[in-house]
Amino acid sequence: MIVVMKKGATPEQVEKVKSKVKEFGFDHHVIVGEERTVVACVGTGNRKDLEGLRLIDGVLDLVPISKPFKLASREVKKQTTVIPVRNGQVEIGANKIVVMAGPCSVESEEQILTTAKAVKQAGATILRGGAWKPRTSPYSFQGLEEDGLKLLDLARKETGLAVITEVMNPRDIDVVERYTDIMQVGARNVQNFSMLKELGQCKIPIFLKRGLSTTIQEWLMSAEYIISSGNPNVILCERGIRTFETATRNTLDLNAVPVLKEQTHLPVIVDPAHGTGFWQYVTPMACAAIAAGADGIMVEVHPKPSEAWSDGGQSLKFDTFNELMRQIRSIAHAVGREI
Ligand code: PEP
Ligand code: MN
Repeated sequence: MIVVMKKGATPEQVEKVKSKVKEFGFDHHVIVGEERTVVACVGTGNRKDLEGLRLIDGVLDLVPISKPFKLASREVKKQTTVIPVRNGQVEIGANKIVVMAGPCSVESEEQILTTAKAVKQAGATILRGGAWKPRTSPYSFQGLEEDGLKLLDLARKETGLAVITEVMNPRDIDVVERYTDIMQVGARNVQNFSMLKELGQCKIPIFLKRGLSTTIQEWLMSAEYIISSGNPNVILCERGIRTFETATRNTLDLNAVPVLKEQTHLPVIVDPAHGTGFWQYVTPMACAAIAAGADGIMVEVHPKPSEAWSDGGQSLKFDTFNELMRQIRSIAHAVGREI
């Protein structure tokens, strides 16, 4: 249920609503929009109790939320959420398209620094790089772990780029949070509910990738776990799903972009690298993602993809990344976005 406050409702009136909501056994989340403030009531209390809230001064209306995801739903917030990264140095969800780029895995100081400089030069504002890698085989490279985080931190200091990296295990959340500006939850962890609840306690934004076989609704329920645990800054990333098609690594579900834009206020990023698995398809699908309304893209870039320790086949070289940037600039302008 959402309690819609009247325009000009006082903070005291909002407080009164919050304390009543709590009394009735619900959690409350105040969402201040451009046009209205609402108090979203979520939890397992008796909905009938909430009816009495109509009588509180400053309350305009009570509206049920029809979707199972409540706080993530467009019903509670009409405008797309704009998520500030690194004290607002970058904003995700605003008119400006955000480009996150970097290697699949952090491999060495030279690799991450040269890549960071190249992607910054080309126009990326966020550096990606994995320090813990979710590999299908236990015999594949598993990541440099904390040493990788330190290298990302070094690249962040040298270039001023914001940084995103994956956290794979709840026990690593503290250390990852110390070195990064956004924490990524990988496709394989999207329904690791205990980790999602812990990430809800973190202060930095969470980048939630879609699972290989999660429906859009299941994915949004995962976002709801993070938000309802206290962290409203969730960014969704479509990265392809598993289908019968074998020509590509995954099937990049660009349908998800307009569906999400309709159903949720959370920003949407598309990852055409994991979505296709082939560097040749990355730029066309990045263009398609921007045309479809995505708020940004995440791509893999490596100085020498043929020598990459992971995902070389879907990684762009510096010159192909430059070409991607050139192409998405035109598309972004064509659909009224800055870049
Ligand atoms: C990655 O971003 O390198 C990654 C492992 O992504 P996903 O979880 O989407 O497979
Ligand atoms: Mn990868």
